[in-house]
Amino acid sequence: VTNPNYVLMVEGLTVSFDGFKAVNDLSFYVEPNECRVIIGPNGAGKTTVLDLICGRTKATSGNVAFKGQDLLKMREDQIVHAGVGRKFQTPSVYEDLSVFANLELSFPKGHGVFGALFFKRDAEVRERIQEIAEMIFLGDQLTQKAAFLSHGQKQWLEIGMLLIQDPELLMLDEPVAGMSVAERKKTAELLNRIIADRSVIVIEHDMGFVADIATRVTVLHQGKVLSEGSMDHVQNDPKVVEVYLGH
Ligand code: ADP
Repeated sequence: VTNPNYVLMVEGLTVSFDGFKAVNDLSFYVEPNECRVIIGPNGAGKTTVLDLICGRTKATSGNVAFKGQDLLKMREDQIVHAGVGRKFQTPSVYEDLSVFANLELSFPKGHGVFGALFFKRDAEVRERIQEIAEMIFLGDQLTQKAAFLSHGQKQWLEIGMLLIQDPELLMLDEPVAGMSVAERKKTAELLNRIIADRSVIVIEHDMGFVADIATRVTVLHQGKVLSEGSMDHVQNDPKVVEVYLGH
């Protein structure tokens, strides 16, 4: 399954847990520069979909192609290496280390052996860290210990730790959970900047935030796509209204 117009193709994806299909014959396609938001009631299968794409959970059947590579045949670390970054709900940064050190540790390891190359690489790495730090609103706090950052800043730092690995697809699970209104606004700004040269899949509940970031929305229900399209389209889809009001 390859189509140059898609970064990610998910086709007929299914996983059964003891006969219960948490994700059931799911298909969707993500384009370059897209921010796809997955919404849906609790238990709809949202997190499981991300787990399947990043190789954390093994699919029962289906296809997941990322730039023509079959992700279902790859290990979690190979999928990261291929350019798929995943952020979980709770930030996991190195609390005792500085913002700079957190970003440096996440920098992909090069294979330079000679001193001269190291020097060149050092300067490049530093420049890249500065660039990413500014993007995540922490440009002035490179020496700050991560432990002293706010919860929202830690979330940004973790996004930075993914960005520094230069993924083509970023998957974020409720990135603004626990954030202040101001932090949510800045996170929307950040995501809109990120999709200038990458694609993003976000699981989100906050509909105001969804409206600020989504290129397209996929509504998941009982492991299947209930509705898909623009925010306007899915919000007015009678099937969606029924599922949400019925809860
Ligand atoms: P959502 O993220 O939309 O709230 P999840 O993907 O977490 O939904 O879960 C979908 C369904 O799959 C839930 O009913 C959940 O209990 C079930 N599920 C998820 N992971 C497992 C697992 N490892 N074993 C058994 N059931 C699971």
